Amino acid sequence: MKMFHVNTGQIFAQPYESEYAIIRRCLVANPGIPFTAIGSSLRMMDSKTELIADRLQNLQPSLPRTQPFKGLKFTYRRQCPKCAALLYHTDLYIFEWLTHCPIHHIALTKVCPCCHLPWPDRGAIAKRDCPTCGRLSFKQLCNFVIPGIQSMDYTPIERIYSFIRHQKNTQNIRLDCFNPRTPFYDYVSPWWRFIKVDSLLFPGGQLPHCKGYIGAELDALHIKYRPMQYKSSPLYACKKSHIDDIRRWQIDTNNLTCIYQAMKIIIHWIVRHTPGNHVLHISEYFYLDLQYAINKTNFCPYCTALSLWFFDVLGPYLDPYFRERRLLHKFLLESGFGEFYRKDEPYLIVDDKNYYVMNKAFSTWFYQRGLIISYMDIQQYIFQLDSEIRRSLSKGTGSSNINYRINRELFTDQFCSFDIVNGRFKFYYANEQPLNDYIPIKIPNLGARCKAYHHRYSNFFIENKANVNVELSASNFSVGIFRSLTQEYRNHMEGLLK
Ligand SMILES: [Zn+2]
Ligand SMILES: [Zn+2]
Ligand SMILES: [Zn+2]
Repeated sequence: MKMFHVNTGQIFAQPYESEYAIIRRCLVANPGIPFTAIGSSLRMMDSKTELIADRLQNLQPSLPRTQPFKGLKFTYRRQCPKCAALLYHTDLYIFEWLTHCPIHHIALTKVCPCCHLPWPDRGAIAKRDCPTCGRLSFKQLCNFVIPGIQSMDYTPIERIYSFIRHQKNTQNIRLDCFNPRTPFYDYVSPWWRFIKVDSLLFPGGQLPHCKGYIGAELDALHIKYRPMQYKSSPLYACKKSHIDDIRRWQIDTNNLTCIYQAMKIIIHWIVRHTPGNHVLHISEYFYLDLQYAINKTNFCPYCTALSLWFFDVLGPYLDPYFRERRLLHKFLLESGFGEFYRKDEPYLIVDDKNYYVMNKAFSTWFYQRGLIISYMDIQQYIFQLDSEIRRSLSKGTGSSNINYRINRELFTDQFCSFDIVNGRFKFYYANEQPLNDYIPIKIPNLGARCKAYHHRYSNFFIENKANVNVELSASNFSVGIFRSLTQEYRNHMEGLLK
């Protein structure tokens, strides 16, 4: 193939333009030449570079490299029609929290309003005959694009980028949890996630760190944001080796109280979302394996999730040998228990050397929030497993087609950000009560189904000595009932040891 000199279209370059915009202006500047031919010529001109956008940038060394989101793909799918008509696009437009173009104040769209087609990808631009999203004519470029670019004011774009990039003073700080008591916990993910820039919660989470910005400015920039709440605590320096000691000191009635409180909230949530004839059960799943659950049991998603959660959170507190015996909980292991969220008390590591813990009020709140989110995770997993089983039964494809290692959905309430202000730790989050926003799927005939399951369960499992199988009711669930339940579980585990 003959190499020709590619015109980069630098005359149309604009601040903070995306790679898509760089490629589009190059296409426009080389009328009639196919995208593939431009690509081959660029490859011959610069064989060391891999990507076409990078090659184009290498040919325009005087321009600033302005795209901060190199990893983000398909950002062209959301655009401003007026910017597009001026060959402008910036990666910011893909973020759902940005509702309108901050320059033109019109809604960002997924479809070109001129030709009514989705915005073209880089390969389709040349074939698109549209004055907004295609390859523009020479006349349009001279009469419209060049004067249009001269009157663009990119200040709002710059403000948004600086808002995003605002340096947190938490760069070298890691939020972590006390070391686990069982080997499984090493593989368990923490319940919290830091808000990423493409999350709808991002502006609300970023705002507290950006002193120069106020809500009113975000409104003017068309940034939709949800204010975050926070909890705070003083930080207490501690030695790394002391963390385990503190942990031992803190495993006490406080944690059991947290479990009780969380369980009460969960039980009330279940009752709100289940029919009046549904009777909640806590049952031990020591002998339950996944294949059995899939083939025979038609389990109740609520009772199963609550039971798994109960034994998961309580085990380590009641039973010093839990570690070994946990290995026998086949159902948990097979269903990817290790991927469920970890809930524990937090500490901070600064610069890999300095360790800090928070006060008891914060640690307790954090632990209890983790308990609830961990339950939501288990419940979500059980719902997904159940619907997979039902789907395969209705198709008659059998249990071998069931994908029971389902990717966990991320709950919005997991997302947080943090800050340290004057020696105080501040933890920002969206909802005070994560369960309030969690609306479960509807299960037909739940009451009857659960009853039939527990009937079968007693027949099968009682013979096998799985003797924890207790009815619970929301109205009289109390500390006393919680205590006797934990005692029953302890006795049961001790019985198994003999
Ligand atoms: Zn615009
Ligand atoms: Zn169009
Ligand atoms: Zn049930």
